[in-house]
Amino acid sequence: MTNVINGICVSSVELVIMKRKERSWMYKRKVGNSINPEFLKGVDEFLKYVEDHPKSSNPNEVRCPCFKCKNKRLWDPDTVKLHLYRSGFLPNYYEWTCHGEGFPGTRRRESNEYREMVLDAFGQSQDQGHSEEPLVSLEEEPNAQAKPFFDLLRASEQPLYEGSSLSVLEMASRITSLKCEYNLPHRCVDGFASLFNEAIPNNNHMVETFYEVKKIVKGLELPHENIHACPKGCMLFWKDDAQLSTCRVCGSDRYKKTSKGSLVPLNVLFYFPITPRLQRLFATKNISEEMTWHAKHPRVQGTMAHPSDSEAWKHLDSCFPEFASEPRNVRLGLCTDGFAPHGQFGDSIHVGLSF
Ligand SMILES: [Zn+2]
Ligand SMILES: [Zn+2]
Repeated sequence: MTNVINGICVSSVELVIMKRKERSWMYKRKVGNSINPEFLKGVDEFLKYVEDHPKSSNPNEVRCPCFKCKNKRLWDPDTVKLHLYRSGFLPNYYEWTCHGEGFPGTRRRESNEYREMVLDAFGQSQDQGHSEEPLVSLEEEPNAQAKPFFDLLRASEQPLYEGSSLSVLEMASRITSLKCEYNLPHRCVDGFASLFNEAIPNNNHMVETFYEVKKIVKGLELPHENIHACPKGCMLFWKDDAQLSTCRVCGSDRYKKTSKGSLVPLNVLFYFPITPRLQRLFATKNISEEMTWHAKHPRVQGTMAHPSDSEAWKHLDSCFPEFASEPRNVRLGLCTDGFAPHGQFGDSIHVGLSF
């Protein structure tokens, strides 16, 4: 891409380099023990730019790009100035994107990866998603099928509170992911959610319980089935056996009675159907490119760069040429890291799936 400046054609890359040179003062805060006069002048220039390109109706709400606030907090211009004098700019902030700037040739809209995640999950094209027309219109109530999609889009665009750089969806997704990562108990998440709610400005959209957090991300969920199993692992209560109440093999009970008299299954298998998961992989732009990597990259004789270089892959190609000719074909590979059928380690085989 080229741009014309003073009659000279320059590429976007050159523009980036020019801007970096012009703004090198941003990272030369000190000369010896005192603040560099060039830095002081630059900060004034920055604040002038902010004043000319207001992002908030309140002039005392300026996003602070200092090393500590990292564009996540809002202050009045004098405090921002003080922060910058004290700790300098956050690294690599040559392009003042959080203050309304975009290099020519780059997208003006701040990227919203959570919005893209929603578009991916529902198989909407990215171009459609990036059009300037807002996808969420409040005038018309969407039909029942489209409702989860519009709810998610709205959550991806709605800031947690006015001026927050976090969206409602980002907050909910990150809480859910932390809960899984650290195996946090339900009540712990409830506690933190209501603490956040108290800590951030009053007029906010932060929910107070994990139950409500889950409701926000629910539309992204992939289907799963709970299938009851024998407590000793002999069989599943599934298909023809779905109605049995004792194990056909060992006679164990399927349910136990609680003190309140209701029946709860003793063992449950969570079944995650693979088809919708594969569909989701293909719906995500970056991942779908990787899913068809083997079709676009030629094999190099004698090197092993991808499972498609393997004998097993080639064998399948020769047995099913029609299947092999479709670049989006998916093969499931099973591998184990050791197999001890009669030994004491027999039930701890690690099995890996690859595509
Ligand atoms: Zn700051
Ligand atoms: Zn059994």
